[in-house]
Amino acid sequence: GTSEPSVFTDSSPRGGAAAEGVVVLVIGGGAREHALCCALRRSPSSGAVFCAPGNAGISKAGDATCVSDLNIADSPAVISFCRKWGVGLVVVGPEAPLVAGLTNDLVKAGILTFGPTVEAAALEGSKDFMKSLCDKYNIPTAKYKTFTDPSAAKKYIKEEGAPIVIKADGLADGKGAIVAMTLEEAYEAIDLILVMGAFGSAGCKVIVEEFLEGEEASFHALVDGENAIAMETSQDHKRVGDGDTGPNTGGMGAYSPAPILTLELQSFVMQSIILPIVKGMAVEGRKFVGVLYAGLMIEKKSGLPKMIECNVRFGDPECQVLMARLDSDLTQVLLAACKGELRGVTLEWAPEFAMVVVMASKGYPVASVSGTVIRNLEAAEAVAPSVKILHAGTTFDSDGNFVAGRGRALGVTAKGRNLEEARQRAYQAVETINWPGGFCRHDIGWRALPKNQFTEKSG
Ligand code: AMP
Repeated sequence: GTSEPSVFTDSSPRGGAAAEGVVVLVIGGGAREHALCCALRRSPSSGAVFCAPGNAGISKAGDATCVSDLNIADSPAVISFCRKWGVGLVVVGPEAPLVAGLTNDLVKAGILTFGPTVEAAALEGSKDFMKSLCDKYNIPTAKYKTFTDPSAAKKYIKEEGAPIVIKADGLADGKGAIVAMTLEEAYEAIDLILVMGAFGSAGCKVIVEEFLEGEEASFHALVDGENAIAMETSQDHKRVGDGDTGPNTGGMGAYSPAPILTLELQSFVMQSIILPIVKGMAVEGRKFVGVLYAGLMIEKKSGLPKMIECNVRFGDPECQVLMARLDSDLTQVLLAACKGELRGVTLEWAPEFAMVVVMASKGYPVASVSGTVIRNLEAAEAVAPSVKILHAGTTFDSDGNFVAGRGRALGVTAKGRNLEEARQRAYQAVETINWPGGFCRHDIGWRALPKNQFTEKSG
């Protein structure tokens, strides 16, 4: 059925600067979507901004009108919502609805949608597809082979030696890559994915990939089917623990810009990775519209980037620091992308550095608790200039307090004239938040800050 935009606390759609601007619907309920809502709402060409399902933090701050009961897996329901409220632009945040074909359905219904079709989303939905595209169009990536048979995979691993990387072919919530330091670990990973089926149908195939040594960075580009424009650089922290230890997570913090991606490297990435993907996808009849996010490894031995992952939407937490710095009218830019009109468009960025420190429920990413109360967020936002706290999947309890779900719940963002100032502000806010059920890393930004910065804290 058609959902009413009345959930959480708000009931009336709030307009942006222009009452007659474009009505926007953001799909998703994480901190990435919260960041997108903020940027869309401050766009001069936006009218009302809706977010489905959104979360308690988006709702409370009035950054969008949340529609928590709209089922984003139900395309007809999303289409009728768009018709009812005159939505002129849909922005799809997460990968799952893209891989499920939401964009195909919306576009067929005549609704401008920022985010790739299911055919184009295969870049993220199937690593085997992504790797074969890289082969065909000469895009630098780690050497690999794809297997469905466990013994053939193990034979190849034995020939190649460890360390080596094993990846499930399909979507696995960022947990589908296993960096095996020994042959034993690699064989176990093969059994886990191919024999025990730990990732379900996402693990029907595995990719066995060369281990690359170097520093990682994230590169995002906006794509309109033919043209691509580079966004600012960023870097995230995937491991759960200080000093980049412990298991991989969705991301525990990020900053922008990433000094390691020099202008020269950025131009290399555009010319040898992003543009060849865009052209190749068009040749393959899979025109890509949306965000291309290349996870890069800047190899120690060559100093050059190779693509180790390809995503078809914004990174989270990277999106939070990118949106903190974006000065352009995002609504206008995304509409241009949907219409194939990105040529000549330039993006304006605040010259400041931005940082986000992610706070997650204790136990994440292994066995996270949920349902704990978060307090003192208003005071935390006021503790230093430019602090903005973005929410992921938070809800309200009956007293109106914020309650965390499983996993990541907050992105504490701040800007500064340099990375150190942004860091100080973000951590000042973190210290003000009263959330005994949550935790964060204490060393976000360490690679880009002076080496001795964290000797006291991490000791
Ligand atoms: P992915 O799910 O493909 O993004 O991989 C998750 C993480 O595994 C990356 O952020 C890297 O830290 C690591 N990783 C993935 N592929 C490789 C590789 N070929 N060599 C070394 N580390 C890798």
